[in-house]
Amino acid sequence: MSQDSTRATESEVEGPLGAQEQAYAESRAILAVDADGDDRAVEAALRPRHLGEVIGQERVCEQLSLVLEAARRRGGAPDHVLLSGPPGLGKTTLAMIIAGEMSSPLRLTSGPAITHAGDLAAILSGMNDGDVLFVDEIHRMSRPAEEMLYLAMEDFRVDVIIGKGPGATAIPLEIPPFTLVGATTRAGLLPGPLRDRFGFTAHMDFYSAAELEQVLHRSARLLGVPLRPEGATEVAGRSRGTPRIANRLLRRVRDYAQVRADGVVTREIADAALAVYEVDQEGLDRLDRAVLDALLRRFGGGPVGLSTLAVAVGEEPETVEEVAEPFLVRAGLLARTPRGRVATAAAWAHLGLAVPRHAAVPGSHPSLFDGDAAAG
Ligand code: ADP
Repeated sequence: MSQDSTRATESEVEGPLGAQEQAYAESRAILAVDADGDDRAVEAALRPRHLGEVIGQERVCEQLSLVLEAARRRGGAPDHVLLSGPPGLGKTTLAMIIAGEMSSPLRLTSGPAITHAGDLAAILSGMNDGDVLFVDEIHRMSRPAEEMLYLAMEDFRVDVIIGKGPGATAIPLEIPPFTLVGATTRAGLLPGPLRDRFGFTAHMDFYSAAELEQVLHRSARLLGVPLRPEGATEVAGRSRGTPRIANRLLRRVRDYAQVRADGVVTREIADAALAVYEVDQEGLDRLDRAVLDALLRRFGGGPVGLSTLAVAVGEEPETVEEVAEPFLVRAGLLARTPRGRVATAAAWAHLGLAVPRHAAVPGSHPSLFDGDAAAG
């Protein structure tokens, strides 16, 4: 996809917003873990196509290659595969690789798209021998569809219900052996009976900075971006352990390099570009920093309730809880406690502030923390 068309898509999406909101949306969107239209178009070109091309996730890839090789030797369909882990780590990519390695067609759908059992019956009845069915966000499928899926996974059969009430009849429908690849960001939400029907379950972990550097070099090669090793290190460190974010930051840094410099992504260029997009050294964006800033400067590091914190940064509590907090908690900057949100010692250091002696810092001063918590 050309750079110009990439831009056009973004400005269409962001066009109706006011200037300040737009800047805010830009700074949020750049670190969002979900793919937008722009990402999807570019991601198709950047996805590894074979297990050997996948960077990181060695254990998962090794186990998966055994599952696939064994199935090939048996001449049958591989066991159903469940991939769990946060967004942007490569679950869809692995599903495509599974189909590719088995030389089988891949059908893609998602849990929220299957609102009725009939939706699933329609998909399953159209399957051919050996097809791979990818169901993203499988934990969001409707309950009747889920029950239909149990039977399909185990017996390669579905019962299609005709009619309603006492006159309803179940017509069994044979379906050819297929492989289900389910992806979920919330493995814990999957009902036990569904989880148990997967022969192989893999949990995908966040990527190390070194792995993200490799992802960036590979993507830069495919996109024709001259990327220096120190430039890759700079971008990798701010990508929150997520290849999707690394690839997106690379595209923004490339834009900056092309417009403001000679197109080469050096450390200085990456640093300057990411400053424009307000992504800091740790990969925190504007909202993340606003939350930390309010927590530290206005509430002395907490504990403070979620809704108070949200009012202080002018956001909805859900936005703070679902958008900013997961990464702040993972980065060890914020803790959720029964008394409210508390900043860790690392948070004070991140904003360049000294930890006040009275601060409730989880882990470092348990007695002080307990005292503060009790005092409320
Ligand atoms: P998920 O389905 O988990 O949300 P995707 O499979 O869509 O994530 O991956 C997002 C993007 O990240 C892909 O397009 C791909 O370019 C990149 N990516 C993910 N995992 C890897 C990997 N192991 N090596 C290289 N690129 C990767």
